[in-house]
Amino acid sequence: MRLKRTVATVATLAIITICFGIYLTMDLAIFPNRKTSIQQEFQDNKWLHFEGRLKQLEKDLNKNHDAVGEIKQAIRHILPSSTENSNKIVKTIEEPMGMPAPISEMIFDSSCPIKVTYPPRNDIQMLEMYKDMKFDNPDGGVWKQGWNININENMWNKHHKLKVFVVPHSHNDPGWIKTFEEYYDSQTRNILNNMVDKLPEDPRRKFIWAEISYFSMWWKDLPAHKRDVVKKLIKSNQLEIVTGGWVMNDEANSHWISIANQLYEGHQWLHMNLNYTPVSSWSIDPFGMSATQPVLLKEIGLKNMLIQRVHYSVKKQLASQKDLEFKWRQLWDGTGETEIFTHMMPFYSYDIPHTCGPDPKICCQFDFRRLPNHGLNCPWRIRPQPITDANVQERSITLLDQYRKKSQLYKTNVVLAPLGDDFRYDHSVEWDVQYNNYQKLFDYMNSNRNLHVQAQFGTLTDYFNAVKAEKKLSEFSSLSGDFFTYADRDDHYWSGYYTSRPFYKRMDRILLYYIRSAEILLSLAHISGKPGSKWIAHKENGLDTIMTEARQALALFQHHDGVTGTAKDAVVNDYGQKMLDAILKCQNVVQRCTNLLLDGLGADNQASETIFYNVDDLRQKQDSLPEQYTITIGSEVSVKKVVIYNALTFNRHETVSFLVSTPFVEVLGYNDKRIPCQIAPIFEHLASMSQSKYKVSFVVNIPALSLVRYIINAINENEMPMESSLSTVQIYNLQADVEAPKGFENVDISLSPSEFTIQNARVTASFSEMGLLKAMRIGHQTYPVHLDFAKYGVQQQAERSGAYLFLPNGQATPLAASNTVVKVITGPIYSSVSVKIPYVQHTVTLFNTTGADSLGLEIENIVDIKETNNFELVMRFSTKINSTNEYFTDLNGYQVLRRKRFKKLPLQANYYPIPTGAYIEDSDTRLTLLTGSPGGGASLRSGEIEVMLDRRLMQDDNRGLGQGVVDNRPTRNIFRLLLERKTHKCQTTSDNHPSGFHTISAHVALETMMNPLMRMLRTDDNDVTSQTGYTPITTEFGVDMGLSSLKTGVILDNKEYLGMILHRKYLDICFSDRVLLKQFPLSDGTVNISGILPPSVANSKINRAPLTFLSIQESVDVQKKIPICPMDTKAFLLHR
Ligand SMILES: [Zn+2]
Repeated sequence: MRLKRTVATVATLAIITICFGIYLTMDLAIFPNRKTSIQQEFQDNKWLHFEGRLKQLEKDLNKNHDAVGEIKQAIRHILPSSTENSNKIVKTIEEPMGMPAPISEMIFDSSCPIKVTYPPRNDIQMLEMYKDMKFDNPDGGVWKQGWNININENMWNKHHKLKVFVVPHSHNDPGWIKTFEEYYDSQTRNILNNMVDKLPEDPRRKFIWAEISYFSMWWKDLPAHKRDVVKKLIKSNQLEIVTGGWVMNDEANSHWISIANQLYEGHQWLHMNLNYTPVSSWSIDPFGMSATQPVLLKEIGLKNMLIQRVHYSVKKQLASQKDLEFKWRQLWDGTGETEIFTHMMPFYSYDIPHTCGPDPKICCQFDFRRLPNHGLNCPWRIRPQPITDANVQERSITLLDQYRKKSQLYKTNVVLAPLGDDFRYDHSVEWDVQYNNYQKLFDYMNSNRNLHVQAQFGTLTDYFNAVKAEKKLSEFSSLSGDFFTYADRDDHYWSGYYTSRPFYKRMDRILLYYIRSAEILLSLAHISGKPGSKWIAHKENGLDTIMTEARQALALFQHHDGVTGTAKDAVVNDYGQKMLDAILKCQNVVQRCTNLLLDGLGADNQASETIFYNVDDLRQKQDSLPEQYTITIGSEVSVKKVVIYNALTFNRHETVSFLVSTPFVEVLGYNDKRIPCQIAPIFEHLASMSQSKYKVSFVVNIPALSLVRYIINAINENEMPMESSLSTVQIYNLQADVEAPKGFENVDISLSPSEFTIQNARVTASFSEMGLLKAMRIGHQTYPVHLDFAKYGVQQQAERSGAYLFLPNGQATPLAASNTVVKVITGPIYSSVSVKIPYVQHTVTLFNTTGADSLGLEIENIVDIKETNNFELVMRFSTKINSTNEYFTDLNGYQVLRRKRFKKLPLQANYYPIPTGAYIEDSDTRLTLLTGSPGGGASLRSGEIEVMLDRRLMQDDNRGLGQGVVDNRPTRNIFRLLLERKTHKCQTTSDNHPSGFHTISAHVALETMMNPLMRMLRTDDNDVTSQTGYTPITTEFGVDMGLSSLKTGVILDNKEYLGMILHRKYLDICFSDRVLLKQFPLSDGTVNISGILPPSVANSKINRAPLTFLSIQESVDVQKKIPICPMDTKAFLLHR
């Protein structure tokens, strides 16, 4: 056997040698040199690159499969010998000829909760419920959206009393009508100051607080004796911190890593300052509830959650079944492991008129802030009266009647009556009137035994504990699905805020990318053991403080008036400035850590203000579009060193582009050997080309979590090597001359429009004479894929679209465009098509790599609708895919849900959040649209998918904002569009399973779009000390397994740790072939954490932890493979 293998290896090596010759001539990619200083893994990576290029050989040489198979097999045999310590993805399946095959299925333990081969076996499935519901809106009487609730007073007796918990609260938006700081100064500070004075007056008083952004701000200036009072209030259970997030996050547009991050910021603060761990979550104002929130709260260790803004018909339906309290579980969860106990509030609002019972006219009379002379009224025209001996009996019985009616909607004999509203309790007199009057009512109720009630102030967890004491969890229904799209009344669906203020929604994703990337680099620098690694992450004076500030800016924007785009213009600008500052901070952390990891001069000098690298993403103002540096090189200074950073845990083989001052350049890769590059002109207006700016693009090869240096050299015009290619430029439909710069004199200008195609090895895209996509070819089959832009107007009624609401005046109408000038750039690295149509500068690019950027089309829209009125712009794709009335959209980038278009619902109700992507499919084909920023969208006809790009609305929509949305600015959106063919008869989930899952291609295309390769320009090109690359990894996880977060400075019990969050996706493998599985290998279901850490810490102690690192759990062997279930998120603490 051994002898045979040796012979085979020698033979195949001979074939390889021949092939190398051909390969080198074709590609001029350079075989790795063993004598280089960079780590061994790095070289392996080059081998992988070589292996990848073999696929090209496969095609071009038209060899038969067996021969190529032998070559590949030989390389596989060579690979392990050079990677003895590496732990490449384990091959589990041996093919008949003995050739190792890539893993072609999701491997996981049978105890994992994921079960998708049968429909969810829970009591309530939201999509099924939607199919059955009528969505009529009959007048329910005093409870307008419900029914008349009748009670039987005999239900209660002395052994069976009604238990009432009145929970005082104040809802503090960290920015909305005023900025975060303005609210704090004018209201929130007073509320919290009053709390410290007023709660201790009576030990029976209770209060809950949610927003730690405000709480921490207040704490800073709080004298020590008052801090002690707060600690006592918490200890005595008079004050409960609910959720404990930095903010009460939006659930439609937010990315799950940002949600985890905002919870982390709040929880870390609570741990360090109050040694406090929250138990229950309180989410009363976000506009629709995501199924991602419960799974994250569960992983954090919370026991209960409360939600409020859910479609009124859904509330009524659940109330009619006494299912407003349920165990919320994930769609894919077949075991109930993800369940968390959830209370849904039954009525219209969280204000006092809608929380004591079904009749707001009555409840309003028990909001004592509305007593005369306090500046507030009851719209139902009956005001509260102060409670006196004379009226206490009548008042108590009137209020008790509401409590009793409310209790009929739930399974237990416990009633929750929240008592608060926006920015309440800001005057000390409000504390007096609310607490004193209620105490009189409680005293009366409790002392009159024939009323059979026990009423009191309570915290949220007091209420949940009482519920759980009365009924076992098994007696509650389980529910799966989400609560989008929210309607509070009539056809008022809140699907407008999915898109409002798209400029800042995009900025949110950029900042998330920077924070994640910077945190990882800072962690790697910290544990690298290199000079400077001690100070760099120091908690007080290292870069960790900067990262905390940056995280808090992103956390603040997760507020339900932040990323939602529903704040006043000035507040939006304030968020923008905070995010821009945070981006700049992250860029600084990135460049300093890069210098340290590459052993640059000055890395150990803490005081140094030197900028070692400029991150190639210039942002002049908070509201300006990002720009790239123009690298000025020529005869005087000819060399520019650049460094590329890959923040993902898989190898990247993708295109990067820089702007340079000359078209005559060469690019040197690893080992200073020339690599292919493509140079293109930059169009400035219509079709005029810049004479001083060009784009140079090349394909880099960056291992996981690594930094690699490349060099761009200016050269003489007549010395252009064959690796440097000037793009071919074609311009259609242009009636003018073009003054072309040197190198592009041969631009092909055509007066008449024409249809044309661009292609790479995987995809061919055809375009109309307007320059818009009309078809895609994959394999040997062509599929129509029509792209167009369309607009919605507003309905001509009193109620019109605004920041929250989408109330369109019918279907969208296509935007007319004619005589568009179409610019087509082609070359060996990429091809692109650009058109300027009304309101949109639209560019489609097809990359010619073996990386994730080549899997589909990249679409860039620069949208500007400030010249319009009441105008909502969408991009649509129309295909022949038989998707019927179904489509799939994601939640928070965490999971994908099946949606159904219902005729019984208005158009705006069929709009769903698309925070990262959507797809449609039939038995043969899937079309996936991945989005670089959140937006609303839908499939409004079979085979169609649309996403909204921007909206400009001239009026307020009566939800308190008091303005329209008219601060539109030029906004860059990016998308990736993938068309994939399904393996015949392959099925990932059971028919009609409410879960969807991205394909491997869609997953890697999304991850790489969200985390683009970071480009950095060396400021000192004469520096010769820096290494040419840095890579910490010895093992790659597999693309389904991701490092969501790796942060320094996690504090637990006064010790400092590195916090790590790993997340594994379940992927739909029915769209993968062998080539794809080799390019993007799947994991074997386990991770070896030491494999992504430098050897210096590969033996560190590691413990499991909840998601916000508030406790230390079982220890984990860092060298062992840790199984992680698909769709699971696991946190770890690394001891320092
Ligand atoms: Zn709010």
